[in-house]
Amino acid sequence: MPERNWAGNVRYAAARRHRPTGLDELRRLVAGSDRIRAVGTGHSFNRLGDTAGDLVSLAGLPQTVEVDRERATVTVAAAMRYGDLATRLHAAGYALPTMASLPHISVAGAVATATHGSGDGIGNLATAVSALELVTADGDLLTVRRDADGDRFAGMVVALGALGVVTRLTLDVVPAFEVRQYVRLGLPRAALDEAFASAYSVSLFTDWRGGADPRGTAGRRDDRIDQVWRKQLADAPPPPADWLGTTAAAGPVHPVPGMPARNCTAQLGEPGPWHERLPHFRLGFTPSSGDELQSEYHLPRAAAAGALGALDPLADRIAAVLQVCELRTVAADGLWLSPQYGRDSLAVHFTWIGDGDAVAPVLAEVERALAPFTPRPHWGKVFTLDPAAVAAAYPRFADFAALARELDPAGKFRTDLLDRYLPR
Ligand SMILES: Cc1cc2nc3c(=O)[nH]c(=O)nc-3n(C[C@H](O)[C@H](O)[C@H](O)COP(=O)(O)OP(=O)(O)OC[C@H]3O[C@@H](n4cnc5c(N)ncnc54)[C@H](O)[C@@H]3O)c2cc1C
Repeated sequence: MPERNWAGNVRYAAARRHRPTGLDELRRLVAGSDRIRAVGTGHSFNRLGDTAGDLVSLAGLPQTVEVDRERATVTVAAAMRYGDLATRLHAAGYALPTMASLPHISVAGAVATATHGSGDGIGNLATAVSALELVTADGDLLTVRRDADGDRFAGMVVALGALGVVTRLTLDVVPAFEVRQYVRLGLPRAALDEAFASAYSVSLFTDWRGGADPRGTAGRRDDRIDQVWRKQLADAPPPPADWLGTTAAAGPVHPVPGMPARNCTAQLGEPGPWHERLPHFRLGFTPSSGDELQSEYHLPRAAAAGALGALDPLADRIAAVLQVCELRTVAADGLWLSPQYGRDSLAVHFTWIGDGDAVAPVLAEVERALAPFTPRPHWGKVFTLDPAAVAAAYPRFADFAALARELDPAGKFRTDLLDRYLPR
C-alpha cells in the first residue's frame, strides 16, 4: 500500500495498514477498529481518505466482475479499476455510459467522491450505481438498492467514505458502442454551449494565457478556448472544416501545452471502443509523474458565461500556477452529496503545478470569484471553501449528516477533513 497519494501531496498518517484477503477478515477489522478508512487507488488530492487509525485497501479481496444480462447490470469488487472493469465489460458486449479522464481509479473511490466525465446528457459515475454492499461500523454487511431503498439509497452512494467500507457495487450498463474523438482548436467562448451540445461527450481545455487585456487591466486578450475534445458516437458525422470557427488539430495533442500526446487516447477521428476514447488517457500508460494538484468547482450550467467572466481578471494569476484548465458538463442527478444534485452543471477544473504554497493564494482568489455562483467543490480535489457555504450549497446536507450519525454513531469513519465539513 503506498505511503502517499498519487500526487504525493498527502502522506497517509495511518498508524496501521491492512490488506485483507477475505470479507470476514475485513468485517472483523472494521468491527475492532476505533478509526478506519478505506483507500482506493489514492488518486484524490486532499486528506478526505486520511486517518490516524487503520487504513484498509480492498485490493486483496477477490476482484470479481459479474454481468447480469437480464437486468443489464454489472456487480463489481470495490477496488477494481475502471479501466480493468471496462475491458472486461467490453469483451462481454457492454459499456458504461461515461468514464473519468483517467481509467486508473478504483470504482468505489470514484463513486465515493462523485467522479465524473463530460456530456450534457450524462450523469457522473455514481449515477450508474443501482446497489451497494458495505461493511458498517459494527462489522455488519449492509446491502442497499436503488429500487428498494429509495431516498435513503440516494443519500448513500456519494458518501465520502463516511458510512462504511464499500465492498461491492452494482452498476447499470448499456450495449457497447464506438466513439470517434476529434480535437479542434480555438473555440470562441460565445460558442461554448453549442460546442458542449455538439457530441456525446465534450471537454474544453484552456490555459488562461491569452495575455494582457488590451483595455489595460489584467485578463485575457482574446476569448478563445484552446482545445475542444469532441468525443462523438462513431456513426455521427464528423465536424465540418469550419466548425464553430475552430481549426482541426493537425496531429494528436495533449491537453497540457507542450506535453507529448503518446499517453492520450486516439484522436483524429479514428473509431474505437468507448473505453478507449471516453477517458483522455490510456490505461496502459501513466499520464504524468503526479507532479500536479487539482481543484474543481461545479456550478449551475446557466452560470457558465458569468463564472468565466468572473475569472477573467485573475487570468494572469491563474496562468502563473496552472498546467491546464478543463471545462466539462454533467447532467443533474438526485444523489444527496453529488455536486450535480438537482442541477445541470458546468465543471471548472484546474490542474495546477505541484507547488501547494504557490497555488494556495490563487486558489483562494478563484474561490472568491466563483462564490456568487454557489460552487460545489469536487470532493476528491483541493479546496478551501467555507464549510458553511459548502453545506448551504447542498439541500440534503443535513440529511446526510444525520445518516452518518445513525450509521456511524462513534465516528470511526470520521477524518479531520470530514469533521471540518460535516457537522457531527
Ligand atoms: C490524473 C487524475 C485524473 C483525474 N480525473 C478525474 C476526472 O476526470 N473526473 C473526476 O471527477 N475526478 C478525476 N480525478 C479525481 C479522482 O477521480 C477522485 O479523486 C477519485 O476519488 C479517486 O479514486 P481513488 O480510487 O483513487 O480513491 P481514493 O483517492 O483512494 O479515495 C477517495 C475517497 O474514497 C474513499 N473510498 C475509497 N474506497 C472506498 C471504499 N471501498 N469504501 C468506502 N470509501 C472508499 C476514501 O476513503 C476517500 O475518502 C482525477 C484524479 C487524478 C489523479
